[in-house]
Amino acid sequence: MAIGQKEYDIDIEFRPNEVRELLSVTPEEVETNSELTYVKNVFIPLTTACRYTCTYCTYFDPPGKASLLTPEEIRIIIRKGIELGCTEALFTFGDDPDERYVEIYRRLKELGHSTIHTYLEEMCEMCLEEGMLPHSNPGDQTRDQMERVARVNASMGVMLETVAKVKAHSGARKKDPGRRINTLKIAGELGVPFTTGILVGIGETEEDRAKSILAIRDINERYGHIQEVIIQPVVENERWKGGMPSLESMRKAVSMARYCLPPEVSIQVPPNLASIKNFLDCGIDDLGGISPVTIDHINPEYAWPALRDLESIAADKGVSLKERLPVYNRFIEAGWISRDIRQVIEAKNDIGKKYRKILLD
Ligand code: SF4
Repeated sequence: MAIGQKEYDIDIEFRPNEVRELLSVTPEEVETNSELTYVKNVFIPLTTACRYTCTYCTYFDPPGKASLLTPEEIRIIIRKGIELGCTEALFTFGDDPDERYVEIYRRLKELGHSTIHTYLEEMCEMCLEEGMLPHSNPGDQTRDQMERVARVNASMGVMLETVAKVKAHSGARKKDPGRRINTLKIAGELGVPFTTGILVGIGETEEDRAKSILAIRDINERYGHIQEVIIQPVVENERWKGGMPSLESMRKAVSMARYCLPPEVSIQVPPNLASIKNFLDCGIDDLGGISPVTIDHINPEYAWPALRDLESIAADKGVSLKERLPVYNRFIEAGWISRDIRQVIEAKNDIGKKYRKILLD
């Protein structure tokens, strides 16, 4: 919980028999999927300011050092992405910059904004005008904040990470799992196709992982809006020397997610943080965003593998690799996307044709 913020209850009842059952799952109990999807994207680190200070994170910069991309810089990234066939603009954030970020607020004011959310809205609109589909991850959001930007996003996301209170989130500005759960629920209430996930190895136990997956399942049962769940290992970097999770614990976590979540919810392992050949038999069916333009700004030391290498690893196990859009087909078919997003997908130009081809393939 950050200074001055209200703490939220997780408000989910974990049934001990369900937790036990999930903890007993092994990779042998799930199946290899025949298809693995990915989305071609560009990373747009709108701001590196964040009110929190998670100890494993190299993304945030402290006040005085944090950056805010200008509209011109963002347009250049988007145009380069379109040129190279990208369909998703991944707007990455920390969490709302707090009042310590005086310089960020001064620059926002110069751009005609008093909050990062109204700036995000304008940048997503620009992105749609250019023909690319935004997928924003602005950390925790209030209902008003999400309502403002949902219309201009094909889908959105926030990592739950864990329902446990871990030391890596503590300190003066601690991230509250209850707020993350609240954000997932708001997305469900607003009908936003949503991505979430767990972060493995930040001090949580295996039981915490099972509970985090059960929490995501419960929320999805209520709203049906979760499109994919990322099982992400924490990785060593200049701020985190706490080690990485073992292969065995990652395989277990992926298998638990595949076992517990309904088949229409994809399970993703980021291919720059873990070797996908170790997880195909644990039921993964998505690799998330891969960029021919930008680095992974969250994990800058971990480069994207080449698509042809991923294709060949998957083919060895009889799995095909397939491009998808930032919003899954089932949500488009069921009318979950806004008119603004639909207009881009149905545009009678080359970009629109590309979107429709991906949908039909
Ligand atoms: S992990 Fe996210 S919330 Fe935590 S410090 Fe980094 S950017 Fe902020």
